[in-house]
Amino acid sequence: MHIETIVSEFKARYHATPRLFKAPGRVNLIGEHTDYNDGFVFPMALDRYTHVAVAPRADRRVDVYSANLKEEFSFSLDNNEHAQHHWSDYIAGMAHVLEKAGYALPGAMLYIHSDVPVGSGLSSSAALEVSSALAFLSLISQIIPGPELARLAQKAENQFVGMNCGIMDQFISIHGRADHALLLDCRSLNYELVPLDSSHARIVVCNTMVKHELGASAYNQRRQECETGVRIMQKQWPEIKALRDVTLEKFGGIQADLPAVVARRCRHVISEDERVLESVGALKHNQLRYFGEKMNASHDSLRDDYQVSCDELDQMVEIARAQPGCMGARMTGGGFGGCTVNLVELEQVEAFCANVEKMYQQRTGHKPQIYVSVPSQGAGEKIL
Ligand code: ADP
Ligand code: MG
Repeated sequence: MHIETIVSEFKARYHATPRLFKAPGRVNLIGEHTDYNDGFVFPMALDRYTHVAVAPRADRRVDVYSANLKEEFSFSLDNNEHAQHHWSDYIAGMAHVLEKAGYALPGAMLYIHSDVPVGSGLSSSAALEVSSALAFLSLISQIIPGPELARLAQKAENQFVGMNCGIMDQFISIHGRADHALLLDCRSLNYELVPLDSSHARIVVCNTMVKHELGASAYNQRRQECETGVRIMQKQWPEIKALRDVTLEKFGGIQADLPAVVARRCRHVISEDERVLESVGALKHNQLRYFGEKMNASHDSLRDDYQVSCDELDQMVEIARAQPGCMGARMTGGGFGGCTVNLVELEQVEAFCANVEKMYQQRTGHKPQIYVSVPSQGAGEKIL
């Protein structure tokens, strides 16, 4: 949907002139299931955005309209303590968290449209939280520093919506930069923008179009298995606070003392943290092939050690790796469906997309969605 259309639809619906804010979805290039282990992640912002047009109301009501769902909803800021189990929870949760943090808000009219595929693992939820946070804050002429805003948006999703996600999605949606990926230390929230030269390659995201039920329970189980590993290793090394604190070398000496499944989970997380740092090093020297090899190794570790892949993700990765010009292919996101991320030579991108689409559909019966992307700018106001 064009910006002009969003604005004219807003005016037709609410009879007021809006300001417009946007926040992108994201894809994680490498560093999966490391966030809640205090480790490293390496996402980039996609060139797909959620836009929120906003104008204030004189009372404390908030009217929201999603052009994606063609549905409106209304709530009062005076009665906004709990989730309604509705898509508006992400917006109500953001308002709730902002007010709790001391930002008294007026009522508002919001018109929302997103180009981020909803519910596909590309974080339309964080894009919605962050864009609506900026919209609310604009009404009281406030700006919150990026890392703090990311924490508040994460809090809205954790505590109000009830989804126990890490901070990566909100953080990259805010801090993304064109032609850069972002290395984030999930413990300190220190971050570094690393140039990702798009003159020779593209990031291609392939949506398997499946989402297996197992996802949520397996996620909680993996978190517990990591905690168990830390607890056992703390007996020998009391200084360890998270898997982040264990090197692969150190782990080699203790892994036989862990239950076999716990050892595999820990090995994934510890090796993945190392792969992230090696990938970033490779990218800084423009060694795209080496970066791609790390992406491949990440997938294999998620499939074999962490066991969060599924047949469709493995098929998609296998098909991708067989294509000319594919330097790396891996599942991205929590697993059990969702998307893969691929590093593809520029000249081969077109053929890659056509072949993967055809072969994946032949093998699985699902028609995949494929997005060719370059690292893009994070959230902000779109001046009209
Ligand atoms: P992801 O973040 O990977 O897209 P989630 O399940 O975390 O998947 O978030 C998707 C949910 O966010 C949707 O089910 C819906 O409730 C909400 N959402 C995101 N974008 C929109 C939108 N444009 N309009 C309405 N709801 C949205
Ligand atoms: Mg989400």
